[in-house]
Amino acid sequence: MGRMSNILRTLRGAESEVERLEREVARWTTEAENRRRELADLERDSGAAVLAHDPASAVRELTIRQMDLRTWIVGAQGASAAAEEQLVLARWDLDEARAVEMRDQAAKFTATAEAHQAKVTTLLAQLRELDGVDYVPFEPSKEDIQSGMFNDGHFSWEVPHGTVLWDPVQPLLDEASRLEQRVAAERAAAARAVAPVVPTASILVPAWDDVDSESQVSCRISEGVGSATFEVSTSGQYGGIEVVTLPDQDGSRMWGKRVKLQAGGGSAKVTCGGAVLAREVRPGSLMANGTQSVWVDYSRCPSCRSTAPVTKRAKTESSDATKGAVLAIACQNGCDVDMTKHAAAISS
Ligand SMILES: [Zn+2]
Repeated sequence: MGRMSNILRTLRGAESEVERLEREVARWTTEAENRRRELADLERDSGAAVLAHDPASAVRELTIRQMDLRTWIVGAQGASAAAEEQLVLARWDLDEARAVEMRDQAAKFTATAEAHQAKVTTLLAQLRELDGVDYVPFEPSKEDIQSGMFNDGHFSWEVPHGTVLWDPVQPLLDEASRLEQRVAAERAAAARAVAPVVPTASILVPAWDDVDSESQVSCRISEGVGSATFEVSTSGQYGGIEVVTLPDQDGSRMWGKRVKLQAGGGSAKVTCGGAVLAREVRPGSLMANGTQSVWVDYSRCPSCRSTAPVTKRAKTESSDATKGAVLAIACQNGCDVDMTKHAAAISS
């Protein structure tokens, strides 16, 4: 072999770095284990030691030895953890170096196959000129193979060398892509895990005429380091102000609460660090007919003309809730509607 290529040198360097760090992790893990065992032995035998002829100095010696061991254990654990972190990075470097080497190999196989193909093309052209026909490598049809005519050894065929030369190229490129994609995904996941958390919130409200369903108020934080404190204020049924810190005691990164918000239901707001992350206002009030809450029917908002639930109508002699003048509507665009001024504008 001549001089080692840069690609191979990088690959060998990455391999030996992984091996070095693997030894380092093993060494410090063993070191911590041995010292832990030594400390346990020492603590077990301490009773016998203080019964010695000079208990005071025996205890002093024991204490020093124990402190010494504890310091060793903490140090060895720290060294092992640091080496493990470096090992993860070194393994990524190694996989990337392997991918580069595979692409280099694929390029060499391609060059060889192309050079071979160029020779074959030249010779075929000469044959064409000499003999007046195109020469094509023999390849039996599927039917010929199935007929069994090649089974008894009288007939055979060979795949052209020029075809075989291409065989290793695609698998090498595929494997290189697979390695590169895996390392890129792992690097991105690691970067996300150490980035500061990003707080988000959402308020999902059912359709305004769906009075039975509940709304869902939720807060969450992204993967990452740190925590976030949300203030969640809701009005209406089950409403109130809550302070939520994520991740919570159980490590959950999400929190949710169900409230009644739709048609005439109330409002909800989620803030974090002074910023409003989500806000919903459903104006008006829902009516109760004694057994269930209902909005009466719908009309158009006199201000913005969009469809809005009518929450109150004037009583009539028949006391049918769908009759009588509109007294209150809950515009879903949040218009503040004074029905005494608009009574004439409503007709239904
Ligand atoms: Zn309106």
